[in-house]
Amino acid sequence: MARSGTDPSPPLPVLILGGGVAGLLAAWHLRRRGVAAQVWEAGDAPGGWVRTLPWAGGGAELGPQSLAWRPGDAADRLLRALDLPFDEVPRRPRWAALDGRLVPVPAHGGAFLASPLLSPAGRLRMLAGLLWPRSPREGENLAAWTRRRFGAEAAERLLPLAARGLFATDAQRLDAEALRRPRAQQVRPPDGMGALAAALAQSADLRLGLRARRIEPVTGGWRVSGDGHEATAERVILALPAFEAAGLLADLAPSASATLGEIPYASVETWHSRHAPGTAVDGGHGFLVHPREGSDLLGCTVLHDGIPGLRLRSFLPLGTRPWSAVDAALRRWIPDLGDASASLRLEAPQALAAPPPGQAARLARILGALPPGLDWVAAARFGQGLGSLMAGLETWSEG
Ligand SMILES: Cc1cc2nc3c(=O)[nH]c(=O)nc-3n(C[C@H](O)[C@H](O)[C@H](O)COP(=O)(O)OP(=O)(O)OC[C@H]3O[C@@H](n4cnc5c(N)ncnc54)[C@H](O)[C@@H]3O)c2cc1C
Repeated sequence: MARSGTDPSPPLPVLILGGGVAGLLAAWHLRRRGVAAQVWEAGDAPGGWVRTLPWAGGGAELGPQSLAWRPGDAADRLLRALDLPFDEVPRRPRWAALDGRLVPVPAHGGAFLASPLLSPAGRLRMLAGLLWPRSPREGENLAAWTRRRFGAEAAERLLPLAARGLFATDAQRLDAEALRRPRAQQVRPPDGMGALAAALAQSADLRLGLRARRIEPVTGGWRVSGDGHEATAERVILALPAFEAAGLLADLAPSASATLGEIPYASVETWHSRHAPGTAVDGGHGFLVHPREGSDLLGCTVLHDGIPGLRLRSFLPLGTRPWSAVDAALRRWIPDLGDASASLRLEAPQALAAPPPGQAARLARILGALPPGLDWVAAARFGQGLGSLMAGLETWSEG
């Protein structure tokens, strides 16, 4: 149990607030370096958004279904060190819902040059952007930079699909670097992403159901309290979404807190559904819906986890719609979709960090304004995707 009240025992070397993947990873890296860290997690299970719930004879992911991976990269090193089995997710056909139909999306960047998603002139313009790359300007948004580098067609027809699909927002609101990552293979543990959280949690000194509510400076460190518990620590690492870290730092580090508060998070809901097989999307990965189609539906993934039948996962902005509304939105793109034999709605409020223009300077301001002995690690610091989080925290642990 966490120490309470007037407990005179020596301070913890490190206390990590948040038992999502960022907090568990930070603890894991520290432990490998011989540093003991205790982790406080407000919820009743480790992993944050990385959690697999049992559903309809299989699993339903609360958050990501897979993570970006390359042989020898940080994700590969981590999965192997954890001795966690994982499968490569086969590349399957994917589509864009655009101009009232499902248009095939090329599997590789260069293949866009032959894609019906762009006109011949638009493809040439994109080729010019590949051959003569331009760097983003200070504070430039992703839509403006894409337009400057790849032309108007790429900015208007391709980019909104990725911005909505990955960040549930518009490209005008995103930092120019938000999408700058090398394309990689995806992998997942056979039993679902929850196995990753469980493997990380196994070796952690993890306290569940403990929400930190206050951090105060004390001689030689910090006192953290919440829900009737209290602990002192030489270092405190906030492995929390930016808005949660902002709240805890409001009195201690007002400037860092205000800057953290500038980072917006998108809220989505996901619907898992099971149908009879035999539709046009059966063997594919799924599709993203272009915002100009005027649909609430952001995208839909086809799950291939060995369970018979067609399993879909549909993404929408968080709302209060019934399954019938989701079903109708899906049928526009999958007219031969059979009735769902089961459906499940999962909420993900404020789950997806959407870094606004000027994010690198913002991060520097946040980290520069934190008092010594306090740190912030979260997906919003290291870039979109669990692969970026793994790479970022590996580098962080070496610092
Ligand atoms: C539907 C969905 C789909 C996604 N798809 C992908 C994808 O395809 N690829 C990808 O890479 N990423 C994806 N993500 C994003 C990814 O899940 C997150 O970026 C990542 O899990 C964030 O990890 P984190 O540890 O930084 O934060 P979180 O998972 O938010 O963990 C923070 C933890 O801190 C706890 N906490 C909060 N406040 C306190 C407090 N005061 N004291 C103690 N504990 C506290 C919370 O309970 C939580 O467990 C998706 C997310 C969602 C929701």
